[in-house]
Amino acid sequence: MTVPLDRLRAARARIDLDRLRANFDAIGALARRPVMPVVKADAYGHGAATVARVLVERGAARVAVAYVEEGAALRQAGLKAPIVVLAGFPAGQVPVLAEHALTPVVSTPLTLEAILAGGGSVPRVHVKVDTGMSRLGFTQAGLVEAGLRLQSAGIEVEGVMTHLACADEDADFTERQLDRFDEAVAALQERGVRPPLVHAANSGGLAFIRQTHTLVRPGLLVYGVKPRPLSPEIDVKPVMQVSADVALVKNVDPGTPVSYGGRWVARRPSRIATIPMGYADGVPRTDRMRDDGHFVIGEGRVPVAGTVCMDLTMADVTARPEIAAGDEAILLGDDPGAWELASLAGTTSWEILTSIGSRVPRVYVEGGEVVGVESRYQP
Ligand SMILES: *Cc1c(COP(=O)(O)O)cnc(C)c1O
Repeated sequence: MTVPLDRLRAARARIDLDRLRANFDAIGALARRPVMPVVKADAYGHGAATVARVLVERGAARVAVAYVEEGAALRQAGLKAPIVVLAGFPAGQVPVLAEHALTPVVSTPLTLEAILAGGGSVPRVHVKVDTGMSRLGFTQAGLVEAGLRLQSAGIEVEGVMTHLACADEDADFTERQLDRFDEAVAALQERGVRPPLVHAANSGGLAFIRQTHTLVRPGLLVYGVKPRPLSPEIDVKPVMQVSADVALVKNVDPGTPVSYGGRWVARRPSRIATIPMGYADGVPRTDRMRDDGHFVIGEGRVPVAGTVCMDLTMADVTARPEIAAGDEAILLGDDPGAWELASLAGTTSWEILTSIGSRVPRVYVEGGEVVGVESRYQP
């Protein structure tokens, strides 16, 4: 839902569409293959409807989601491009796949039987082989059997894929996975099933593309965050910046406890800023965030003071007398970056991005201008 800017709460996630386009272009230049951006989980918190529309306009021939509802929502938002559903579906959703012309990945015996029982209502699928993730996907023999059964039922096997478990951590393991993938694809082709789309690379996998691959499917990198520590040499910039405007700056005496449990106590006469954003918005509520976390206000950092609350977080601005109510405090963006926040939260950048709460309005920016606002609430 679109809402006027001045009626929003004093917190927002700014989504830079110019950076989104530039990242997409940079990935395409590196991969030298078509890019199928992964826009699951509401485009990693960036807003799937807008992100998918912008990237399709930029040249993405198709996009990928995890679940059927996500694909249906993109159709309802008007997206016409092919949508690949990566993560499986129950048999009851076959009519939904058909109705919204979604392309599922068949990766389990149950999804295979469900598609076959649909009698061609879903005319096109991708198939998946497990090469070392031990999650979804057939064995090589299972893949060949699935491909043959689908093809003889008149269902087009448009793609074959696998998923890399350690592309950002272990090059040897990744190469072995890709060897198994090559073998499985060759076995499928030998039996006369020749999917035109062959894909394996997530963001970390862009460093391991093989001649046989005709498509890449990155998520994280599209949003301008690099997988670590093994990351492809590529220039991308964070698309999302999360910030809130300081609600109040107050003076407290030495010995004054701040926030739930009083686990932070002023050691000197202090100035405490209250920032209207908390763990329900995606601010990590961990001891490390309390002890070592920061916001950026103006030109510098200010430390978090006290336990992060559901809706609010405090910061110690004693060293920055110029800071006043109304100043913008940045939680996440170029600085602090997603990996810094991830380390304070004991998690990864993927989880940091997908944890930015749905009650934070998404403000879309292009050429420095606001071009759209999406909010779950319409105040
Ligand atoms: C999420 C996902 C991706 C994208 O992964 P990133 O690491 O974010 O690039 C690719 N393929 C599959 C099957 C996924 O589930």
